[in-house]
Amino acid sequence: MRARHEWADVPLEQLRACPHCDALYRLTEVRPRERAQCRRCHSVLIAPRRGAFVRIIALALASAVLLVIALLTPFLDLSAAGMHSDASILDATMAFSEGVLAPLSLACAAFIIVIPAIRLALTLYTLVPLVRGRPAARHAADAFRLAERLRPWSMAEIFVIGVAVALVKVSGLASVTPGVAFWTFAILVIISLWQDSYMDREQIWSAIDRARSA
Ligand SMILES: [Zn+2]
Repeated sequence: MRARHEWADVPLEQLRACPHCDALYRLTEVRPRERAQCRRCHSVLIAPRRGAFVRIIALALASAVLLVIALLTPFLDLSAAGMHSDASILDATMAFSEGVLAPLSLACAAFIIVIPAIRLALTLYTLVPLVRGRPAARHAADAFRLAERLRPWSMAEIFVIGVAVALVKVSGLASVTPGVAFWTFAILVIISLWQDSYMDREQIWSAIDRARSA
């Protein structure tokens, strides 16, 4: 990518702005293993990876399975003074489902379960037809745009960190053991970071464009 100062003759679809500092560039082909970096702020703009879509799909499917396991298994195991109790993620998020804190419960469930699940579904909806060499799904562009908009609201990792902090605090009062769902959730966070490392937005957008016009 080259920075240019004269843009009048460049078609709009060939222009890309750095999402971090707004520096303007003309789009050129970036091959797998190559990367285009912003000259001004050095953030990576394009870094396509070979076989990225198949890996993203595989990791999204793995995440979906883990999310189901995380919902069905105990999250925490508490015992104090001979009393024993375990709680699932749903129990934890719905702990304040009555009274004035009910919106907090709903928001919590949305941020850690509903929004991640919707993002997985949208990613699969967008990428599966592209990998199979089919025309892009009818609403692929809208679906991918929505998945990207929801990204900051998907907060599973913040939840895991919050629970880890709470565990340290509570450990003085009761014996607390993380359950299967806790570890499943922790793996889920790692997988979503891994999946994100394959996500090159430019690669996905141009694949959607190509598959639309095919
Ligand atoms: Zn920049």
